[in-house]
Formats: sequence, C-alpha cells, structure tokens
Amino acid sequence: MSTTTVGILGGGQLGQMLGLAAIPLGIDCVFYDPSPEAPARTVGRHLTAAWNDLDALARFADMVEVVTFEFENVPTASLAAVAARKPVRPGLRSLELTCDRIREKEFLRDAGVPVQPFAAVSTEADLEIALATVGTHGVLKTRSLGYDGKGQRVVRGAAELAAAWDALGRSPSIYEAFVPFDREVSVVATRAANGEIAAYPVVENLHTQGILFRSIAPARVPDELARAAEGHARRVLEALGHVGTLALEMFVADGTIVANEVAPRVHNSGHWTIHGARTSQFENHMRAVAGLPLGDTGMAEFSAMVNFVGGLPTREEILAIPGASLQLYGKSPRPGRKVAHVGVVAPTRAALDERLARVEGVARRMNRLAPAPSEASRTA
Ligand code: AMP
Repeated sequence: MSTTTVGILGGGQLGQMLGLAAIPLGIDCVFYDPSPEAPARTVGRHLTAAWNDLDALARFADMVEVVTFEFENVPTASLAAVAARKPVRPGLRSLELTCDRIREKEFLRDAGVPVQPFAAVSTEADLEIALATVGTHGVLKTRSLGYDGKGQRVVRGAAELAAAWDALGRSPSIYEAFVPFDREVSVVATRAANGEIAAYPVVENLHTQGILFRSIAPARVPDELARAAEGHARRVLEALGHVGTLALEMFVADGTIVANEVAPRVHNSGHWTIHGARTSQFENHMRAVAGLPLGDTGMAEFSAMVNFVGGLPTREEILAIPGASLQLYGKSPRPGRKVAHVGVVAPTRAALDERLARVEGVARRMNRLAPAPSEASRTA
C-alpha cells in the first residue's frame, strides 16, 4: 500500500489529533506552524516558519502530495502560494466564504440555511442603518479573526452600538440580532471528493464566556429538528464543494434553527467522536483529504466532551472515572487557553449524566478563563 503524505497548515491540538488519526491509515503528516512548541510536534514532521514566508511555504508544498489546514486564519497570499503547487482540500472557497462573517452569513442565506437579521458596520453612517435593520438587541462582532467569543460585544439598546463599535477599534464589523436561544447545537460532517457525505449525530454545546465548555451527543432535541440541522450541514458542504470535515454551529430558539457560523475544519464540538463514534471526525477528515472512502459516523455509545481551559486535571483523577478518556494537548496552561479535553462514554443517558457530572466537577475546579471575557455568551 502506498503512503500518502499530507501537509497540514497549523500544528495546534486539532493538528495533533489529525496526526494521530493519520498513523493507522498509513498517512504521513508534515505540519507547518510558526511555533516550535506546536502541540502536533509529536505526531509528524514539522516545518517551523512564519505564515508569510513564501519560500518556506513552497518548500512545504514540495514535501507533500496534498495540503489541508487546521487553522483557518492563514493569510490568503500564503495559501495561494501553496495552492499553486499542490491541491488544497478543502478548497480555498471554503476559507474565503467563512473567514469574513458578512460573506459567511450571505453564503448561508443563499444556500437556504436560516440566519438572523444582520448588517455590515464599516462607517459611522452604517450604525443607524444597522439599528434599523437588526433592532436594538444584538451582537456586534468583528468581520474577521474573531474566535472563542473574542472581538464581540452584546448591545442592549440603541445608545450602546456606537460605544461597542469604538470598543472593537472601529474595525469592519457585523451587527446581528441577538438570538435568545434555548440550546446551541452543531453538526459535524465530512464530505469526500466524490460528493459522499457522512454526518455525525447533532451535538448540543454549552459555552462559558464564549468558549466551548461541554458537548453532549446526541443532542436532546426532537428528531425532526435533528434532521433539519443535518440537512443544513449537508447544504453547506455541497454549496461549498467542501472536501473534508466541517462544523455548522446553530442556535435553537423556540423550536427553530438559526445558523451562527461555519468552521471549515475539524471542530471542538466533534472531539467526542474520538471515543464516541465508530470513526472520528479526524479520521474521516484524513480519509477525505487522502481520497479514501469515509467511515461510519454512527455512535458507539452516549458521549460527551468537556474542555479544560487554563488548567489541567491530574491524569489519575480523570482516568479513575469510568468511561473517561484524556487528551492532553502538550500546551502550557494559561487563562483562557484550551489545554486538554476529556471524552466520556456510557451505555445509557443516565450513566453518561452521572459520569459527566464528575468530569464537569473537576473542570469547573480547574478551569481559568481569560480575565477580560466576552459578553456574548450571556443569554440576557
Ligand atoms: P461565535 O464567535 O459567533 O461562535 O460566538 C460565540 C458564542 O457567543 C456563541 O456560541 C453564543 O454562545 C454567543 N453568541 C454569538 N452570537 C450570538 C447571537 N447573535 N445571539 C446570542 N448569542 C450569541
């Protein structure tokens, strides 16, 4: 069997888990990351260079057969330099349409996926129009480079919008209606180059200060809603012509779905699949990128995932909990930084609840969030 060599832009924990999934498939990974401390350093070869080093990017492309990414904020020119030499999966279209929140919302709307009212804010004059279009209760977010709730402000009255824009440094922004959601859910799904799609069960997510704290699979939502959510993810994969795994994050409000955003890569709300599904999101991504058939996305057991942010549990404490598995990212803890996650599986929902409560107890004790939290996760 011939080995496939896959280049991965970014060597964070997502890269580490992709690299782990690649080994049994006979895929060699080469990671490109500016940091010599990148978590994926233990699971493949590394090229340590800056994102704008076009010579290093060309060398990287020459080392591999196909390129993918685990970090989507790669400068467009850098990515184009790689794409000129080797196929990039998913394609540049997936990145271009999801790295700008306005283009992303327009794309979702055009693909038939419901989104909340939104408006672009680039000039002082836009503020008035945005309030008229969206209303006075909303969230102002920078158009690009926001993550984990960073670069966002909740607005609770007309007078607050201008101040929120000032607080975001008057950067080009999107103002969107606040969704008083009952639950947040996501669908992680993989599309192969031949168009085949494998979707994982809908997951429900709980965020704390904009950072994912915990996911539960399957989500506690009616079947009809779960089917609709999966349908939206399929539409997004097809409209993008995406090859690989992606996540569609959605709100459930009053029994209806409103899409929030697309992550054009493996996603934190899919980490439970490592132990909870027959094939993980990471393995399916590597299969899609390498042109291999996709694996079964069915659940092995009821599953959950808890993030450790800013503080690490002891291995003994976690591994003593039945059904719990530990994934350490090899990062030094600091407030607001995801450093590990714990997967939990159980044969029944009740057993999962009990095991999960123990893991969450440890996480709530250990987690240290960033000192200047986003306000966006408050459900006001
Ligand atoms: P995002 O960076 O867009 O994923 O936002 C991070 C978190 O902030 C989301 O997971 C929600 O918990 C919250 N949030 C973002 N946008 C909205 C919104 N329009 N309405 C209500 N909550 C939101």
